[in-house]
Amino acid sequence: MRQKIIAGNWKMNNTNFDSLLLIDELMNYSFPPDLRIVVSPPYTQLSLINEKLKNLKIEVSSQNMHYESNGAFTGEISALMLKSINVYLTILGHSERRTYFNETDQILLKKIRKALEEDIEIIFCIGEELSDRKSRNHFNFIKNQLENTVFLQKYDSWKKIIIAYEPIWAIGTGETASPDQIQEMHSFIRGLISEKYDHSLANSVSIIYGGSVKPSNAENIFYQPDVDGGLIGGASLDSKDFASIVNAL
Ligand code: PEP
Repeated sequence: MRQKIIAGNWKMNNTNFDSLLLIDELMNYSFPPDLRIVVSPPYTQLSLINEKLKNLKIEVSSQNMHYESNGAFTGEISALMLKSINVYLTILGHSERRTYFNETDQILLKKIRKALEEDIEIIFCIGEELSDRKSRNHFNFIKNQLENTVFLQKYDSWKKIIIAYEPIWAIGTGETASPDQIQEMHSFIRGLISEKYDHSLANSVSIIYGGSVKPSNAENIFYQPDVDGGLIGGASLDSKDFASIVNAL
């Protein structure tokens, strides 16, 4: 059975105070027991939020990590550092990292390998630009992103890989892909996993959607058969909105 997941990517938002308040507010809601709820605070708050969530069923992930274990990489955080504060989940390949910090598939491949080697689970983001979609190149684009990165990993590694389909044109823009467009792409991705590995693996991988998910559109998106949850940016900063998105799954 595929895991259902909602992950909130807080990006570079919230002071410690804001984040603790957000968690306090989330504690007032009840969530279905069978789904994974994740929050992804900035690095400086990982320990704090992890401690705060100790007895709750909400997990913490980082927003990124470096591919080396240590060394002269000023400003970077390693897998070992994450593990030392009990963080065993990370987002990799977010389009903001790809666009603003020039993270290529080659760099991401190194990060994926390091995370898997260190037993850190990955939420791996892929997604096309609007120009790719307009020129009908979006399926090819997504296939390439997968072939250059996660498709180079062994069958068993997929126990630790979650795919997040996030069309770049829908991130933080208020523009959401339609449920049909999302289902079409998720089913395409699952089909590729099936071709590359096998049907049983394809049916066990969680593929979540990200891009302007809000309480008003969450239910229609999550209703799609190949959508196993969401990666939520802006709406994850508001406890009421986040709780309502979680409960729409
Ligand atoms: C994201 O950052 O992964 C994201 C999906 O953002 P938003 O929900 O704000 O579009």
